[in-house]
Amino acid sequence: MRDRLIKGIIFDGLARVTVIDITDIVNKEIKMHNLSPLAAAALGRAMTAGVYISANLKNKKDSFSISIKGGGEIGNIIVAGESGNFVRGYVENPIVNLPLKENGHLDVGKAVGADGFITVIKDMGLKEPYIGRTELVSGEIAQDFTKYLYVSEGVRNAVALGVKMIKDGSIGAGGVIVEALPDLKSDEKLFMLEDIMTNFTEISDIIAKKSVEEIFDFFFGHLDAKKFEVEKVNLRCSCSEQKIAGIVQGLGKAEAYGIIKEMGKIEIKCQFCNKDYIYTEQDVNKLWAE
Ligand SMILES: [Zn+2]
Repeated sequence: MRDRLIKGIIFDGLARVTVIDITDIVNKEIKMHNLSPLAAAALGRAMTAGVYISANLKNKKDSFSISIKGGGEIGNIIVAGESGNFVRGYVENPIVNLPLKENGHLDVGKAVGADGFITVIKDMGLKEPYIGRTELVSGEIAQDFTKYLYVSEGVRNAVALGVKMIKDGSIGAGGVIVEALPDLKSDEKLFMLEDIMTNFTEISDIIAKKSVEEIFDFFFGHLDAKKFEVEKVNLRCSCSEQKIAGIVQGLGKAEAYGIIKEMGKIEIKCQFCNKDYIYTEQDVNKLWAE
C-alpha cells in the first residue's frame, strides 16, 4: 500500500489536494545510497516535492529536475524524474549527521542550510525549458517548496512534507500539498485550509498509520470533496548506455584518450542509481569510429 498518491478537489473544485506516500521509495534510496537518517529525511522530503511536480506534468515525455543547494553539510540535493510519477534522487553527502532538534526532530534545516536556492527545471518539449528559482527560506524543504510554488509558479499553496525514521529505515514518508485555485477568494475557506494544514506538523506520523485515501477522506472528505483514482509512484533511473556514451563523447577525443592512458579505462557511475559504466580503449575507439 506504499508508493502511491491521490489527487482530489475540494470546495467544489476551488482547491486541489495531493496526498503522496513514498515510504518504500525512501527505503530503497536508504539502501542504495547508505543514507544516514538525516540524509534520508532531507532526500525523502525533496523527492515528495518531485513527485508533486511529476504528477502535474501534462505530456508523457515531459521531465523535470529539482536542485536544492543551501550551503549546509548535506551539499546539493538533486531530484529528477519524468511525467507519470517517476522519480529518482541523491544527495551529495549521504552520511551527514547532526544533533537532533530540541523537539526531537531530525535537523533537516541545518543539514540543508538556507543560504542558497531551490531550482526547478521542467522540460516540456518546448524550445526552451522552464526554469524557476527562488531563495531558500529555512532549508526544511516544505517551506522552501511552498515559496517556490508561490513565487515562481504563482500558485497559492500549502505544503507539508515529512519522513519518519526508525532504526531500520522509514515507516512513513511523503506529504500533503494543497493548492488554492485563483477563483478561491473566500477568506473563510482559506482560513479553513490553513486550519487543516496545522494537522500536518507531524505528517510523517500520519502517513505511517494511514493510506493516502484515508488521509484524504479524514482531513478533506467533508469539504465538498471529490477524489480521483489512486496513482502508483515509481522510483526509476533514466541512465542508459546511450546517455553515458554521450557524456564520454562530450569529454572530447583528446580528454577521453588522456583518461584511458592515465587510468586504463573511463569509469562513470550514475549518481542516481550507482550503476557503473566502464569504457575501455576499444569502447572509446568505437565511439569515435561511429
Ligand atoms: Zn542510473
